[in-house]
Amino acid sequence: MPRYEYRCRTCGDTFELSRPMAESSAPAACPAGHDDTVKLLSAVAVGGSASAGPAPGGGGGGCCGGGCCG
Ligand SMILES: [Zn+2]
Repeated sequence: MPRYEYRCRTCGDTFELSRPMAESSAPAACPAGHDDTVKLLSAVAVGGSASAGPAPGGGGGGCCGGGCCG
């Protein structure tokens, strides 16, 4: 289940919640019970293993960026 980060505008605290993607924009109360919270746009780690890194089979040439393709 993806984790989402929220910030409370009442006490300024930030907290994370694990909730279904369909409820990512649903109201979330902070640990102190405040309802005035906003969802932060942070990198969401799904699963637990780092997915960053070279794309499989991606090559990584960057040819089209150098103007050699046109
Ligand atoms: Zn709060």
